Amino acid sequence: MNLMDIEKQYTSGFYGKRDVVLVKGQNAHVWDVDGREYIDCVAGIGVANAGHSHPAIAAAIAEQAQTLMTCPELFYNNRRAELYQKLAEMTPEGIDRFFLCNSGTEAVEGAIKMARLSTGRQGIVAASNAFHGRTLGALTATYKKDYREPFGPLVPGFDRVPYNDVEALEAAVTGETAAVILEVVQGEGGIHPGDGDYIRAAREICNTQDALLILDEVQTGFGRTGRWFACQHHGVVPDLLTMGKAIAGGMPMGAVGIGSGVDGMKPGLHGSTFGGNPLACATSLAALEVYQSEQLQARATEMGEYFRERLEEINSPLIREVRGMGLMIGVEFKVRASKVVEGLIEHGVLTLTSGTTVMRLLPPLTIPREDIDTVIEALCDVLVQMENGSK
Ligand SMILES: *Cc1c(COP(=O)(O)O)cnc(C)c1O
Repeated sequence: MNLMDIEKQYTSGFYGKRDVVLVKGQNAHVWDVDGREYIDCVAGIGVANAGHSHPAIAAAIAEQAQTLMTCPELFYNNRRAELYQKLAEMTPEGIDRFFLCNSGTEAVEGAIKMARLSTGRQGIVAASNAFHGRTLGALTATYKKDYREPFGPLVPGFDRVPYNDVEALEAAVTGETAAVILEVVQGEGGIHPGDGDYIRAAREICNTQDALLILDEVQTGFGRTGRWFACQHHGVVPDLLTMGKAIAGGMPMGAVGIGSGVDGMKPGLHGSTFGGNPLACATSLAALEVYQSEQLQARATEMGEYFRERLEEINSPLIREVRGMGLMIGVEFKVRASKVVEGLIEHGVLTLTSGTTVMRLLPPLTIPREDIDTVIEALCDVLVQMENGSK
């Protein structure tokens, strides 16, 4: 049996997969089992910000694996201590403690629990088109009905408001609200950047009602949008900052950054067996050092502008809009985005969808300019083929 058939036989069936078997990666390129090369604008869904197989990150993994892989937070650990310092340095001023976990959704769960604990309130206000993860609490905050409805009853106490609508948020946040949770740029929901005025208003509204502001930067964090965290574009510091995806350069990890206004944490109230394990911490530390030394947030700005300019130059009736921030880019089509994504695979380019009509580009922040040019050429070819095919 070939590898695809084996996966098809044994997989849960929860994933819609493309017919590509990836076996190797190097910077912004990946290879399939037959040796075919692709430019990777998926990067593990915005995970491999420093590219695939970065030597410094790979070396940190190998070294830590031979030293100490596991050490729960019942004990102290050298790598964890160093990572805490690094996270405090990179996150916005005012975020000064951290809860370490293993995925984005766990970070969101942790933040929701801390918000309820700290405020003694239950209400959580989330936005339309939001995506916060798949575990029950994070899922309740997630917008898409298809993801949520088969799994009820979900967690009580959640309200939903239209995104980028200050008045609706103001009306929804009351003295019973524990927290407002927002993405700074909505990722899964179609690459919708939040207005600076909206994110700042959310901060003000939370202050007025003594509610906490949770900013979910699982996808936007660690340079993706051109700053280490997207909230830094708007001068807003949340009370709880959720992180994941690129935090450890490809190693599974999540974290919650905790502001000084958050209270009530006592030993035993929350935790995780793998949380803060030395292997993840050493990998994250190496990844964050690479992000800093290669100034990848500045590269995201520069290459993001270039990529968006080149996309905007494409003269195709099939493109409705190009939007995004840094190297978090959405191209909205007048046709199903999956058609374009499939066409691009044929041309050696891997991309994501984000809803029905939006193609999402989350390449490594290290992607060379020539690779962006190749992606643009491939996209032009695919669109021309589609235009001709539909005539
Ligand atoms: C991906 C994502 C999550 C969930 O992270 P997982 O690691 O898949 O659990 C949560 N929030 C946002 C904004 C995300 O993009």
